[in-house]
Amino acid sequence: MINRLAVIGVGLIGGSLALSLKSKGAVNEVIGYSRSENARQEALALGVIDKAADSIAEAVAEADVIFVAVPMGAMAAVFADMSEHIRPEAIITDGGSAKAQVVLAAREALGNNFKQFVPGHPIAGTEKSGPSAAFATLYEDHRVVLTPVSDTDTAATAKIKAMWQLTGAEVFEMDVEHHDTVLAATSHLPHVLAFNLVGMLAQRDDCDEVLRYAAGGFRDFSRIASSDAVMWRDICLGNKQAILDLLDEYHQGINKIEQAIKEEDGEYLIEVFARAKKARDTRF
Ligand code: NAD
Repeated sequence: MINRLAVIGVGLIGGSLALSLKSKGAVNEVIGYSRSENARQEALALGVIDKAADSIAEAVAEADVIFVAVPMGAMAAVFADMSEHIRPEAIITDGGSAKAQVVLAAREALGNNFKQFVPGHPIAGTEKSGPSAAFATLYEDHRVVLTPVSDTDTAATAKIKAMWQLTGAEVFEMDVEHHDTVLAATSHLPHVLAFNLVGMLAQRDDCDEVLRYAAGGFRDFSRIASSDAVMWRDICLGNKQAILDLLDEYHQGINKIEQAIKEEDGEYLIEVFARAKKARDTRF
């Protein structure tokens, strides 16, 4: 049971954790802080949080568990603002989509409290953002990855693991680098591709005409291009090398496909498409 949960960044990810734990009776009180006054008041009005704090210091001062769910580019400043005000026994965790950058920022800012920091990433989400996007069942039957480092207190990791399990999520532990490589492949690269394709079409003079005839396939592929631009800028810059490595591999693949189309090499196209179909059909 958590007495007071502080959520810094009450949007889709932070708000959904608050709603889920409240619905399970696993938390006495949720205090929330978001940079914008509007977001704070909206979160309060929607019952996502019980109390809106006017500052990060106020939000964390009495908290047992602190969940940081701001865009990754804001994490370092948030950790720095909270570090002087955290109770020594408080446990801090986050929901950032790439872990190396967050761990570095937390190590630099949190000082003695760093051992109480359990880096985390819920592999769940939608393309919507803000407090109104939050819902209690977001994490049910989804995976949450924790990436504790050698200094992380094992009791703190166990407590955060138990917290996520209460939301209905399955919790895994991974090392930071492995997490960032895996997520670059399954989440970060696909978002970059979707943003690029939809952004490219949006620049065409005949964009409306082209998109009028978009069917289910385009809708499926492009849904994630509707995600928040700031959040995805931060993820791309925060997981730079892993994404660049994959983009390099992707360029090589797309160049080969381009070449095969030019040369009417149907055999090569069948080979690539059939391999992809088999990989998807056997896993999803
Ligand atoms: P969101 O936009 O819905 O919520 C972010 C909240 O942070 C907003 O309420 C905003 O007002 C607040 N905020 C922004 N800058 C701030 C600052 N400097 N100080 C305090 N509050 C600030 O975003 P989200 O989708 O909930 O994402 C939050 C985090 O979770 C990000 O780090 C993201 O990488 C990660 N994440 C997102 C998803 C997803 O699918 N959306 C999935 C997993 C992890």
